[in-house]
Amino acid sequence: MRPATIVATVAGVTSDIQPEPDPVVIDHEHEDLTGGWLRPSVFGAMDGLVSNAALVAGVAGGTRHIEDTTAVILAGIAGLAAGAFSMAVGEYVSVASESESAQREVDKERAEILAHPEEERAELVEILVDKGLAQSTAEDVARQVHQDVETAVTVHAQIEFGVDPDGLASPKVAAVSSFLAFTAGASVPVVPYLFGAETLTISIVVTLMVLFALGAVVTRVTSRPWWYGGGRQVLLGCIAFAATYGIGMLVGASV
Ligand SMILES: [Zn+2]
Repeated sequence: MRPATIVATVAGVTSDIQPEPDPVVIDHEHEDLTGGWLRPSVFGAMDGLVSNAALVAGVAGGTRHIEDTTAVILAGIAGLAAGAFSMAVGEYVSVASESESAQREVDKERAEILAHPEEERAELVEILVDKGLAQSTAEDVARQVHQDVETAVTVHAQIEFGVDPDGLASPKVAAVSSFLAFTAGASVPVVPYLFGAETLTISIVVTLMVLFALGAVVTRVTSRPWWYGGGRQVLLGCIAFAATYGIGMLVGASV
């Protein structure tokens, strides 16, 4: 059943709403089409939601006997800032080192192609024949590819180690995306407090709703149904919030 049909059924609407057949989409591009911002954004936002709501829950649990939400708000904002910077640094380092090692392989390949063009051309013929091309076709292809060094580098890099030299992810884009996304996610549990909510419940409910939505969105790039992705996020979030609330309560009672 498609989401639209489920919603219609749940809402008690008679299901004469026929879901339209999915259009046939020929998906040639399997690589990340987004220049590397989608993954850090989605995971940054989920990370911000879970870690900051857990932090808020912990402080709320520890200060529940004090009729004052100042500590909760302060912790929430500090947690947002700390997490956003930490995420940005982590993403930057991880993507930069990944891109640098890919770049080093590409440079090695270029040096090989410049130093031994004939051997590299022969190597490409061999690979193409292995992949099922006829010998003469493979030789034609390799000859054409090797007319230009950069074309040869691109083809060798993709065929030999699956790297697109022009499509390396940018560490800056990843860092900025995850910073912004974490900030957005982490502000969700804090905002209700800023607007005068005095209980943790509102903050957690709003957080769980956004978590569900993000979990459902992620299933667009996985093979799981949307409700599974959303439900799993909510469940994991609940465990994290309950655990930190409990820890906050214990610590709050003993200090
Ligand atoms: Zn090669």
